Amino acid sequence: MSSLLLQGGTLLLHDENDHVIPTISDLLIEGNKIVKIESNIKVAGDVRLIDCRGKIVSPGFIDTHRHMWQTQLKGRHANETLFEYLPTGNMAASLYSPQDVFWGQLGAALESLDAGTTTVVDHAHMNYSPEHNVSALSALAASGIRSIFGYCAHTRVKAWSPELQIEPDTIPEWFLKQLEELATKQPYGNGRVEIGLAWDNWYLPKEVVQKLFKDARSWGIKLVTCHFVKGPTLSIYPLLSEIDDRLFLCRSAFRLGFVRPRYLTFSFRKSRERRY
Ligand SMILES: [Zn+2]
Repeated sequence: MSSLLLQGGTLLLHDENDHVIPTISDLLIEGNKIVKIESNIKVAGDVRLIDCRGKIVSPGFIDTHRHMWQTQLKGRHANETLFEYLPTGNMAASLYSPQDVFWGQLGAALESLDAGTTTVVDHAHMNYSPEHNVSALSALAASGIRSIFGYCAHTRVKAWSPELQIEPDTIPEWFLKQLEELATKQPYGNGRVEIGLAWDNWYLPKEVVQKLFKDARSWGIKLVTCHFVKGPTLSIYPLLSEIDDRLFLCRSAFRLGFVRPRYLTFSFRKSRERRY
């Protein structure tokens, strides 16, 4: 079993009230478990030592919403409104090859790890073909990060000229087939990468959404993530009441949480009482 001793770092320890108490101490890890936290831990044998003096030792951060494929677009959209961004950023996925997706995903994962973020919920709206998804998953598995790959039904560009055309079907034939295959074979990357559902398609017929959620749950998908924006432009859609009242899903069937002011996730409860 491999061991790692972090020496003399400032540990961000949580007390019983979940307050963070910065504490200078050693920290010993055996395998994948923290087994000891105290000053001047003595070890023998094959233990890797890391001098952490002057450094912070913290639990990994969790990024609850990211479009990892967009690494190559970084810095282009800071001054844009949402409606300026949608064609130039969101829909730019139509110009990505599966290989472009791989490098975008890998870059995002590695820079996340470099910044201390060890888990990411990836809202992957680059789902132009099954190959794009396989490529994205391969990058996540290779990167070392923990992630929920949010398999996504999104607006797809059919043509940019002579005028913008959108694919009429956001759930093409291959979509569900691949989702089932990926979800039933998860996890990937030695258990680090799971399949979730990135879902903003509340406008679809009730029966379609209902069946998809039922199937997703039966395939082992545990987490759903969607955008939720309160504001003058997009709050016309009463998402929460839709989930509660129209979508039959019932909040009781989910763990529901706002992970940022503008994003929403919910996970399926493990309950015998399944209501759809
Ligand atoms: Zn987003």
